[in-house]
Amino acid sequence: MIVILEPNIDKNGELYRRLFGHLAALPNIQVRTHEEHGIQQTLTELYLVGDTAALSLDHIAALPGVVRVVRVSREYRILGRHKDDHRPTAFDYNGVRFGQDTLHVFAGLCAVDTREHVETMLRALREHGQVCTRMGAYKPRTSPYAFQGHGKNCLPYVFELAGNYGIKVIAMEITHESHLNEIHEALQHSGNPTGVMLQIGTRNTQNFELLKIVGRQRDYPVLLKRGFGITLEESLNAAEYLASEGNSKVVFGLRGMKSHFGDPHRNMVDFSHVPVVKRLTRMPVCIDPSHSVGTRAAGPDGLLDIFHATAQGIIAGANMVLVDFHPAPNTALVDGPQALLLGELAHYLDDVRIARNAYEQRCARVASTAISRGY
Ligand code: PEP
Ligand code: MN
Repeated sequence: MIVILEPNIDKNGELYRRLFGHLAALPNIQVRTHEEHGIQQTLTELYLVGDTAALSLDHIAALPGVVRVVRVSREYRILGRHKDDHRPTAFDYNGVRFGQDTLHVFAGLCAVDTREHVETMLRALREHGQVCTRMGAYKPRTSPYAFQGHGKNCLPYVFELAGNYGIKVIAMEITHESHLNEIHEALQHSGNPTGVMLQIGTRNTQNFELLKIVGRQRDYPVLLKRGFGITLEESLNAAEYLASEGNSKVVFGLRGMKSHFGDPHRNMVDFSHVPVVKRLTRMPVCIDPSHSVGTRAAGPDGLLDIFHATAQGIIAGANMVLVDFHPAPNTALVDGPQALLLGELAHYLDDVRIARNAYEQRCARVASTAISRGY
């Protein structure tokens, strides 16, 4: 059960103390405090865990200091969508809003290789009005002999250049808690010219200890990618690990499932799950067409499969797109064969707009005919 308190309630005040004391004294109930710091107000929610079936919703809703009470289903208590749940489906980070109704493209390098390539990429993004990118510094690789990423050595120039080119958010994978500290230090050292969305890759979706550490920090939002060999439910529970530790600024990423049935694509594209994740949870949903499709093959219509997969995800309501580009894919140290060319950026962004317009038209159509959305 989630007890939503009056905005900006004083946690040292008498009202809060009494309310908390009352709830904590209920038999077989534990109370956990959860705070959301917005731009204008702080929202405090109390999670009642334990024998909540015996509690009266009306009784708790009538207590002084309480605005609303939501009875949650057992799954995804914090990130889930529950009956009569009007909690927000968006969050702000570094001036960018991420929600179930927004759309941002994170085009960029799968792996940072040279300062020149980073700068060329960022310049192209600025020319096209983009404020988000992806930049891999820590790369989880199948072979121990493969390039593992430049790690903390590239962070100073990546952050400095991102600031120079007006980038507000960089999606960057981390595979160990030390990377979180390195990113934090490098950002501070360079005067916080940009922001970072920490990415948990598909290989770490169920690295619960890493999830707990990343969930305990509130400085950076998190992009959690779906595990490539586990159920959707298991991956959504992984996202809930982040929120249960305190960080509910989580974007859920679909990146395809490992299966030979997806051949000749690298993974089996799973973007039909975009609306499923939005229905079950309040998380914005990201698609990664590059790691799903994994090739630059094109259809007889002339459109690359990556363009098609992107459009499929967006027309289904995706909120974020993570996509590999590279100024010189032949020299890329990771995933060159799936990288789009900088000359394709304008066309790609146009295609994104076309698909987004189609999605908005579909939504307007369903709203005007008042067809129930089923939740
Ligand atoms: C990536 O985005 O660079 C990546 C490694 O993705 P995934 O974890 O989905 O394989
Ligand atoms: Mn990659």
